[in-house]
Amino acid sequence: MLDVIFLGTGGSMPTEGRNLPAIAVQCGGSVLLFDAGEDIQRQLGRAGIGVNNRLSVFITHMHADHVLGLPGLLLRFSLLGRTRPLAIYGPEGLIEYVRVNQQTIHLGTSFESVVYKIEKGPVFHSEHITVSAFEVDHRVVAFGYEIVYQRPTGTFLPDRALELDVPRGPLWRALASGEDVKLQDGRTVSPSDVTTAKPPGLKIVYSGDTRPCRALSEAATGADLLICEAMYTSEDSQMATERGHMTAAGAARIALESRAHMLALTHYSPRYGDGSPILAEARGIFPETVLARDLMRIELGNSEGPKVTSGE
Ligand SMILES: [Zn+2]
Ligand SMILES: [Zn+2]
Repeated sequence: MLDVIFLGTGGSMPTEGRNLPAIAVQCGGSVLLFDAGEDIQRQLGRAGIGVNNRLSVFITHMHADHVLGLPGLLLRFSLLGRTRPLAIYGPEGLIEYVRVNQQTIHLGTSFESVVYKIEKGPVFHSEHITVSAFEVDHRVVAFGYEIVYQRPTGTFLPDRALELDVPRGPLWRALASGEDVKLQDGRTVSPSDVTTAKPPGLKIVYSGDTRPCRALSEAATGADLLICEAMYTSEDSQMATERGHMTAAGAARIALESRAHMLALTHYSPRYGDGSPILAEARGIFPETVLARDLMRIELGNSEGPKVTSGE
C-alpha cells in the first residue's frame, strides 16, 4: 500500500493555503520526499510525518521553488534531534547547495546527510521500492522520477500454511514477507506455496518541471498515478513554451496517450485562483484527473485503483 501526500502544490510562489512543490510517498515506515519547496518542514508536521522516519529526498532540479525548503528541513531535524542518516538525491549543484546550507546550522546537524548526484536511470532501491530518474525538458538540467513498488508476495493464505504444517508465528511472518523457511523436518516452504499470486507492481511517475517530452510519456506508460506539473492553461501556452512548462491540456494528453490510470495536477500558477480552469481543461481530455491540494492524500494498492482519501 502506498500513500501519496501533497505537501505543496504551488508553482513559483507560495500563496495562502498553497506551499511550494513537495510530495511525500509513504510506504510502511519509509518516506520518500520529492522536491523540497519552502516551508516543507511545517507541512511534514501537519501531515504527521515524524522527525526520525526512514527518509530519502529526491530533488528534480535546482530551481529555488523546489529546493528552498531543504535548509529548513535540515535545521528542523537537527533541532529535534534526528539520528537516522538522511540520503538526498538530485542533479549537479545539490551537493554544494546542501554543504553551504549545512554550515548555517551553527551547532552542526545531529545526523549524517549524504548527497548523491544523479544521472538518468535507477537511483534508489529498497526492499519494495525502486526509484529511477529520467531527464525532462526544462530550462536547466531537470529530472522526473518513476517510483515502482512491488509487494514481495500475494496475500498470505493461513489454511495453506496449516495444511503444510507450518507452525504459526515467526515462520508465517517470514513467508508473508517473501522469505523461504525451513521446517524442523527439513522441508523448505516457499512464499508461493502459501500465498496468492504476486499482484502487479504499482507505478507513480512525477514529472517535475518540464515541457511535454518523450521521456515523460515513456515513463508514464501504464502508470497507476501520473503526477504532472500544469503551470498554465492553453490560453497561456506561449508562456508555457517560453518558460519551459506544461499546460493542463499537455499534461492530460500525456496521461491519455500513456494510458495512466489517474492524473494529479500540481505546480499550477497562482494566476488561476483555486485552479478550476486548470482542472476543467485537463478533464476535457482526460476525465480521471484530480487537482492536487496541499495535504491531499491519494492511496494506491486497493483493488479499485488510486483513490483520493482526503483533501479534495
Ligand atoms: Zn523549474
Ligand atoms: Zn517550479
